[in-house]
Amino acid sequence: MDQSDASRQMLTVARKFGDPRSVRMDAFEPFAPDALAAALAQAAEELNASAVFAAGTERGNEVMARLAARTGLPFAANCTGAAPGDPVEVTRLRWGGSLLEEARLRSPRPLISVAPFTVPADSGPAPVELETKPPAESDLVVRVSDHVKPSSGGVSLAEAKVIVSGGRGVGSKEGFAIIEELAGLLGAAVGCSRAVTSAGWRPHTDQVGQTGTKVAPEVYIACGISGATQHMAGLKGAKRILAINSDPQAPMMQNADYTVVGDLKEIVPAISAEIRKLR
Ligand SMILES: Cc1cc2nc3c(=O)[nH]c(=O)nc-3n(C[C@H](O)[C@H](O)[C@H](O)COP(=O)(O)OP(=O)(O)OC[C@H]3O[C@@H](n4cnc5c(N)ncnc54)[C@H](O)[C@@H]3O)c2cc1C
Repeated sequence: MDQSDASRQMLTVARKFGDPRSVRMDAFEPFAPDALAAALAQAAEELNASAVFAAGTERGNEVMARLAARTGLPFAANCTGAAPGDPVEVTRLRWGGSLLEEARLRSPRPLISVAPFTVPADSGPAPVELETKPPAESDLVVRVSDHVKPSSGGVSLAEAKVIVSGGRGVGSKEGFAIIEELAGLLGAAVGCSRAVTSAGWRPHTDQVGQTGTKVAPEVYIACGISGATQHMAGLKGAKRILAINSDPQAPMMQNADYTVVGDLKEIVPAISAEIRKLR
């Protein structure tokens, strides 16, 4: 794993199981999950690992699922904590984070991924150097062949400190011009709800929620988003929410730290105009 925040959080949990050894996943490019699973299986054997941890990112979970299939070992995904012992006791996020499950894992080598943004980060050991076998042709069948740039002007949704997000209330694809304008002024990423991606107004890469990206910005500005549980499931890591909605009873307004009741088509451009004045 690389030393991203998610990986350092994973090490906090792994440390309870002893002195963790770190294997860099980004040493294999382009991303090929089966080749990584094969290398991880080999590393776990050579190091006689008592458990294998990964950051619960999409890639981390994918590699661990393939490692589980390859080795026949049980895998607990998206854990927020794990206590060593026999059995290992894990707490995991279920249903997009709306349920915490306590589970017991009986395994000679439990495979555990740690849900991002759920535990404090810890600095980890330097990665171990391992001689890995060259990947088999069959392990390279699934691999990244191309990268499509997100539409959010280069700011990644998952890493963004500020997100300006639009829902059905934005009204149309063209309506997102005011959302993009505000995001540009704030150096923010643009996000959206599933109603928006379903309507084809924005690409799926912009979707926040249970079936979209999980985000953890300092500020999430929700414009015309009702706040359905599936959308809120992606927002658990957001520090502050500002909601702009014409309906004061919308669930997003109940969950927000700051609210503005009114028509986003007036309010969003007014905020942008104020920011311009201040510069
Ligand atoms: C299995 C499953 C997975 C799902 N995954 C996701 C997911 O990952 N992400 C996600 O977002 N959804 C997801 N959904 C869909 C989710 O249930 C909601 O349908 C969706 O989030 C609604 O999007 P919305 O808030 O934009 O639209 P709506 O619910 O239609 O809300 C629009 C809001 O805009 C406000 N509004 C309207 N006009 C204006 C205006 N001019 N100014 C200000 N406010 C205005 C309204 O008051 C309303 O609150 C999922 C659903 C299912 C069943």
